[in-house]
Amino acid sequence: MARYTDAKCRLCRREGSKLYLKGDRCYTDKCAISRRAYAPGQHGQGRKKVSEYGIQLREKQKVRRIYGILEKQFRDYFVEAERQKGVTGENLLRLLELRLDNVAYRMGFGESRAEARQLVRHGHFTVNGRKVDIPSYQTGLNDLIAVKPGSKSTDKFKELAENAAGKTAPQWLSINAEMMEGRIVALPVREDIDLPIEEHQIVEFYSR
Ligand code: SF4
Repeated sequence: MARYTDAKCRLCRREGSKLYLKGDRCYTDKCAISRRAYAPGQHGQGRKKVSEYGIQLREKQKVRRIYGILEKQFRDYFVEAERQKGVTGENLLRLLELRLDNVAYRMGFGESRAEARQLVRHGHFTVNGRKVDIPSYQTGLNDLIAVKPGSKSTDKFKELAENAAGKTAPQWLSINAEMMEGRIVALPVREDIDLPIEEHQIVEFYSR
């Protein structure tokens, strides 16, 4: 599958905001956005006027990059969000939040979504007792997401569990860091998603 392999900080600079793609570094003054808050490239500092379409496009790209999703799959999420009852933009964010790689990240297993995705792909997680190694796996209400028993005793996961214990999980997740597991006790709502996203722009983008 195609993957973006260039410098992650360029993506933040392109979007003009922090996308938190690199874990702890994003919270330090080493963050590239803090140091060079303009788009990368020769004309990065010259780009000023953005059309309505441009704003919508950038918002869509921003969310796609935060969750690390390719265009086709992102469009599929939008189609599904539109099909569901309720507000399309919120449905879209909820679908993204409930991806297994994102849930693992929200549980604290992975400094970034990219790291959490790799851990999922390597088969370190179970959902309701069954191994799942598909990052896009859609979790649901009452699902129990856990680190696989064989992985719990590894130094890597002991360290991750320590980090996870020190982090604040979203309200929709009930975490037991010691057991290395978490249960989805509610479906995420817009207020739970602490990201600088204007989802209505994405809806406008796909409604053109
Ligand atoms: Fe983005 Fe993090 Fe890089 Fe800052 S350090 S530009 S938030 S990926």
